[in-house]
Amino acid sequence: KLSIDMDSLNEVKINGPVQNNKQKNLFSTNMEIGNTDLQEKLLTLTVTKDDFLKMKIIGQFNLGFILCTRKLETGYDMFIIDQHASDEKYNFEQLYKKTVMKVQPLIRPIPIELNPLDKILIKENVEVFNKNGFNLKFEENDSEDIFLETLPLSEKTQFTVDDFFEIIDLLRASESSYKLNKDIRCSKVRSMFAMRACRMSIMIGRPLNNFVMKRIVQNLSSLEKPWNCPHGRPTIRHLMELRSYNSFTSDYDL
Ligand code: ZN
Ligand code: ZN
Repeated sequence: KLSIDMDSLNEVKINGPVQNNKQKNLFSTNMEIGNTDLQEKLLTLTVTKDDFLKMKIIGQFNLGFILCTRKLETGYDMFIIDQHASDEKYNFEQLYKKTVMKVQPLIRPIPIELNPLDKILIKENVEVFNKNGFNLKFEENDSEDIFLETLPLSEKTQFTVDDFFEIIDLLRASESSYKLNKDIRCSKVRSMFAMRACRMSIMIGRPLNNFVMKRIVQNLSSLEKPWNCPHGRPTIRHLMELRSYNSFTSDYDL
């Protein structure tokens, strides 16, 4: 197993001119590793989804992190990836995209009072509501009444009509930003998925083999927002740039 002294990593200084601005920005902010917004912005600019597929696994660190490198024109740079946060974010996005909530039928459907614009919005996005567990009935009368026939069903979470209206708000917001998001979830469903994803993900403290580490890193390439877990914990940080790191060969042995 590889062991690395973090203090000595921090002391590594890179000399010589920096090749391009992107890398310089990424590297020069290592001292601000706690600044989440800045780190995310820089990662978005400098790490592409393809990069995750090409990263080489160096090894596991402290039974919680994966160290990997990315090849640059002039050498390598190294990243540290949180094994739990990354796996969790992947599982979360899968649940978010794919899960259709179970429903509980209402004995008496609830009439929904809406303005005509919201009625159109709902009719155009019926599947968003169905995925969230809100099934609707449309009356073909003059006033085009809409009735809520089901609420989402979950053991621990109680849903109400307010959660239905939250989705309308979210749809309105996403419509006005000109990129209508069909994967909208109300906040209670979102936090259910975050909890479920946490339970099903690889925990800190678990030793990982190369195959599993590779899968975790490559899974990040398919994510919409790979930079943090659903609870806001960072998944990946840039560690350093290795200008002359030539010891990396394909028969590298752990
Ligand atoms: Zn977790
Ligand atoms: Zn988390």
